Amino acid sequence: MAIKLYNSLSRRKELFAPRDPERIGIYVCGPTVYDRAHIGNARSVVVFDVLYRLLRETFGPSHVRYVRNITDIDDKIIAAARETGQSVAQLTRRMTRFFHEDMKALDALSPDVEPRASEHIPQMIAMIERLAAKGCAYLADGHVLFAVGAAPKYGELSRKSRAELLAGARVEVAPYKRDPGDFVLWKPSPAELPGWESPWGRGRPGWHIECSAMSEAHLGESFDIHAGGVDLIFPHHENELAQSLCAHDGRPFARFWVHNGFLTAEGAKMSKSLGNIRTVRELLEKAPGEAIRLALLSTHYRDPLDWTDEKLRQAIEILDRFYRALDEPRFARGGPGEAAAEEVREALEDDLNTPLAIARLQSLAAAIYRAKEEGERRKLQERLAASGRLLGLFGKDPGEWLRSAEAPQSPRIEELIALRAAARREKRFADADKIRAELAAEGVFLEDHPDGATTWRTRH
Ligand SMILES: [Zn+2]
Repeated sequence: MAIKLYNSLSRRKELFAPRDPERIGIYVCGPTVYDRAHIGNARSVVVFDVLYRLLRETFGPSHVRYVRNITDIDDKIIAAARETGQSVAQLTRRMTRFFHEDMKALDALSPDVEPRASEHIPQMIAMIERLAAKGCAYLADGHVLFAVGAAPKYGELSRKSRAELLAGARVEVAPYKRDPGDFVLWKPSPAELPGWESPWGRGRPGWHIECSAMSEAHLGESFDIHAGGVDLIFPHHENELAQSLCAHDGRPFARFWVHNGFLTAEGAKMSKSLGNIRTVRELLEKAPGEAIRLALLSTHYRDPLDWTDEKLRQAIEILDRFYRALDEPRFARGGPGEAAAEEVREALEDDLNTPLAIARLQSLAAAIYRAKEEGERRKLQERLAASGRLLGLFGKDPGEWLRSAEAPQSPRIEELIALRAAARREKRFADADKIRAELAAEGVFLEDHPDGATTWRTRH
């Protein structure tokens, strides 16, 4: 039992030996709650949910403390609230609730602590004061800025030269900065925007200091793993690291930095302007959360993942096969049960190799079909179920999954079916065919029955 993880700081796979195996700390940068979670947000949550499950399994659930914050103070939130005519508090409360619902539907466990930035303002102010006292921060034009020149190892995590950092990363140039790479710790906030009293007047924190203060509050100065998407390495994580090292007089911050790869959709970067953002909620209308989860885990977490409808369709098929194996003839839950298969656990211990773990689950399912003897089949089924649980899979009753796979529900698809029926009644057959083809392209196949009813499946 030895977990190996790729550490972005050292750029190599390292043996994960916790500081204290009874007090393992992991901090994951959580959502900025201004909009619905998209599939890229979900990738980070699902990947680190598997890591959390593996750590709990290995070291005991009560020995792992998983902190994932809610960023509820951010300029994007202020802009979105203004755009939609809601108060910032209304918007963040609503989006936080949606985020919880969506992640629950993906079978992601809740973190042990979910700190909100807005509830940690005193800790942020105190940390900024410490930074100023140590000469790492200065006041300029009402802003408190972090002086990157005071951080000797700045650039260590992203491994970029100062010139590259400034050129590549849309660093905000402002006349009051001593160095163009300096970043905001605290900025003034007018009366109509969210703000808090501080030694520098009414203002609000910058994004990076939020995470440094929240990780310190809930995990202490030093902890085991800091994780997030690869797009956070610079500037967010580089800046967090610089702040925390300075505030803690250079004592180690996170020992492991773990990052999941980029996600694109059908070959393109997801963006509002392209209109190709896939929200988790939209996907949940088309497919069960467990299939979305499996599709996300089918690619190694460090590799880029191109999200396609085809991948989701395949994940549903694979789950159908798993659940049929578990249902064959009837999987009896309970009893002492079998432990998870060693080879599945080993795949996860090797830098969370989920594609290999899934392939090994498929071999187990194949063995169930081959099993000649009832007792052996039952054992294999229990082993498959226990192994799937390591990845957060197979939480449903197999019979229930298979029944719902026969008659899935989706308001949007039902609506399209109704439109197609209307088109056929009105003899607009080209329109009707177009709807059928559109649905087929996203993996939804219609079947017309002699009595006039139309049903749909997600498999051929
Ligand atoms: Zn963060």
